[in-house]
Amino acid sequence: MATQEAKTVDNADELNMYKAVARQFEKAAPFVDADKGLLDQISACNNLYSFTFPVLVEGKVQMFEGWRAEHSHHRKPLKGGIRYSLHVDEDEVKALASLMTYKCALVNVPFGGSKGAVKCDPYRTPVEVLEKITRRYTFELAHKNFIGPGVNVPAPDMGTGEREMAWMVDTYSTIHHGELDAFACVTGKPVSQGGISGRTEATGRGVYYGIVEACARDDDMDRLGLSVGTEGKRVVVQGFGNVAYHAASILQKEGGAKIIGIGEYNGCLYNPDGIDIDALQEHRKKTGYIQGFPGCEEIEDPKACLEMDCDILVPAAIENQITSDNAARVKAKIVAEGANGPTTPSGEEILLSKGVMILPDIFLNAGGVTVSYFEWTKNISHMRFGRMAKRFEVGRDHRMLDLIESVTGKPLAADRREALASGPNEIDLVRSGLWNTMADAYDEMKEVMANKEGVNDLRTAAFVVAINKIATSYEQLGIFP
Ligand code: NAD
Repeated sequence: MATQEAKTVDNADELNMYKAVARQFEKAAPFVDADKGLLDQISACNNLYSFTFPVLVEGKVQMFEGWRAEHSHHRKPLKGGIRYSLHVDEDEVKALASLMTYKCALVNVPFGGSKGAVKCDPYRTPVEVLEKITRRYTFELAHKNFIGPGVNVPAPDMGTGEREMAWMVDTYSTIHHGELDAFACVTGKPVSQGGISGRTEATGRGVYYGIVEACARDDDMDRLGLSVGTEGKRVVVQGFGNVAYHAASILQKEGGAKIIGIGEYNGCLYNPDGIDIDALQEHRKKTGYIQGFPGCEEIEDPKACLEMDCDILVPAAIENQITSDNAARVKAKIVAEGANGPTTPSGEEILLSKGVMILPDIFLNAGGVTVSYFEWTKNISHMRFGRMAKRFEVGRDHRMLDLIESVTGKPLAADRREALASGPNEIDLVRSGLWNTMADAYDEMKEVMANKEGVNDLRTAAFVVAINKIATSYEQLGIFP
């Protein structure tokens, strides 16, 4: 039986994420006009804090391993999630930190990349032990200046969420009593604890906007033999956690896509007529599993979803899923990487040789850090987005509608007037900012592909865009005249 986060390929080199990111960087570097020493500086991981700490579990002391990697200080603060997993190691944390640097640069979020982790099982550890682990981990980071609003700002990742971020901010503010910007020490907090509306769904929503942008270009869709737009597209999603659920739900509800397959660590569901994602989420909340959901064929092999016949495959669970072992059997025309590192470089070569379009992780899952950036700016400005302008905008819209009514002589129905003159709420502004960010980043990648001979895939283009921006920022710091 498959275990959670099982890694099934034996090729350790292919599955080393740190080496994989280094290969992605090396593929893009020749297309960047920058000094070799500067490129070395950009790719290296600047700092790694690796530590152990004790927690009392059922009256006995248990030791836990923790990490926080700081990949790049070209922008401050640094930013990156906290992962709770039994399979995490130092190389994975460094790889994830480096992906954060390139991701932030690509989507114009002014942070350096970081990542943290604790080796623990978030699914089987009692909540009170998770709280102790989180608070102690935060304390260790604070002790070494690896957390703080202007220094390093964690966020959720696999195995963590709003709850852990609330514990972190509480611990940090206890240590830094009276620090005005303490709420900005982590993002992804509950809204009542200084969070922002739309952060929980942000990565999945960003996945949706990224797919919308990619599916909007008729030349690309023609090449893939697909129609323009997301409407009616057959989608398979691997994972049913935060990123996967929101991506699937929004693709279905707002994009009109048909979600025909879902894969989890313990098996997959398949229904060619489409799976009702919100109903499946309710079922999972009640039973703890996706299995047993009416109307679906159940498949035991958790990797079967990767090979289902579909238009878009969204691997949104864990790394190293599409490898040299199974890439040739992937049938999707678009692989949309919701997770970090779901495709190994060898897997990618095979997909590209088959003409598959890969929407790379550093682009597609950047919605989380983008909205985290909005949350951080909200925290340091101490004001909710839209608070100042809303009433003004509602008044202005009503005056415009009054004018239109007086010119046309046709009064608007009250509900229509309300819809046209409601003014934006925080969630509207967050979604607008996120979509714009994803659209701009997609355009930048496409521009590189159009103008740089030899850049033929979106991941290389994304790295070229990101490395260029980081190199420029180092040059502007005056370190490399
Ligand atoms: P999560 O913990 O909420 O969900 C992960 C899901 O994957 C769980 O439902 C888990 O059961 C499932 N899973 C575990 N092993 C699996 C396997 N072998 N096969 C299929 N499913 C499996 O995590 P998340 O926050 O949704 O993160 C998922 C991915 O997205 C990670 O790679 C993470 O780094 C990346 N990511 C997350 C965010 C964020 O904001 N949460 C942002 C950017 C990137």
